[in-house]
Amino acid sequence: MRSTATLICTLGHAAMTDELLRLGVTPRQLRMAIARGTVVRAARGVYLCAHADRDQRDAAVAHGRISCLSALRRANVWAGIDRSLHLQVPAHATGTRPVRDQGGQRIHYHWAQPQFPGTTERSWLVSPMEAVWQAIHCLDEEHAIACLESAVHEGFLTIDQVRELCARAPVRLAGGIRELEFTSGSGMETIVRRRLRHVGYSVVAQVKVAGIGDEDLVVEDCVAIETDGEKWHGPDRFHADRIRDLKTEALGRRSIRLTQDQVLYEWETTLAAIARVVTDAQREQSRRFGRLLTRRDDPL
Ligand SMILES: [Zn+2]
Ligand SMILES: [Zn+2]
Repeated sequence: MRSTATLICTLGHAAMTDELLRLGVTPRQLRMAIARGTVVRAARGVYLCAHADRDQRDAAVAHGRISCLSALRRANVWAGIDRSLHLQVPAHATGTRPVRDQGGQRIHYHWAQPQFPGTTERSWLVSPMEAVWQAIHCLDEEHAIACLESAVHEGFLTIDQVRELCARAPVRLAGGIRELEFTSGSGMETIVRRRLRHVGYSVVAQVKVAGIGDEDLVVEDCVAIETDGEKWHGPDRFHADRIRDLKTEALGRRSIRLTQDQVLYEWETTLAAIARVVTDAQREQSRRFGRLLTRRDDPL
């Protein structure tokens, strides 16, 4: 017989009384686990093991399910810049709930009846379909489209599931939905690709280059842009990323690496810099091609 704490672990480190009773835990065993300190009673009917994280503790206290952007973050799916806790509560729930989480951030409650309940939801977490459905309503158009592409990239939803959501999505997302591409390697990449196309650049995503692998974005066939997300390129990636940049330059293609802040908070300056690099690269490219006409042995 597995311990009560271990059973809670198998349920994702949080469980409700009825789930535990269904798994054969007796009220006496539950009381003993709490007395031993291996299980914590976070709120009436909600129990956590020692691995539960802050969102799970906050959700338990509020009698809510982790949902929307907070559910996406747990799966590394793009969820925009809002870091507040999003919780699902029953449509007709009564009683007072905390306004802020333990970190002092305002909690965003979702009261609407879940549209996609099912076997993939947990007592403390909404289903992946529900999370993305809620998120595309909470996010602005740009972040919602990045979220849809990222959900596929992270294996959170299939392309068919995203199409199902798109068919019912708010009208304000219609234009962005027509531009969906399921090649994107990250939410940041989606945002940069769309912004550059919207100002008139030709941008190809995930270009395969021998010896390098896939390049995030190639602008006007002459500048490679890599986007560094906060999780995707940690310190361990630093050296590998620089080798990649050098190889790109060696192929005669300019290489730009953008941080999340440069895209989300300094876009005007960033775009001006990209425009300058693209113009220079195009000039350089036409100069090389011009020379090729007179010197056929030139390797470039
Ligand atoms: Zn656990
Ligand atoms: Zn939300």
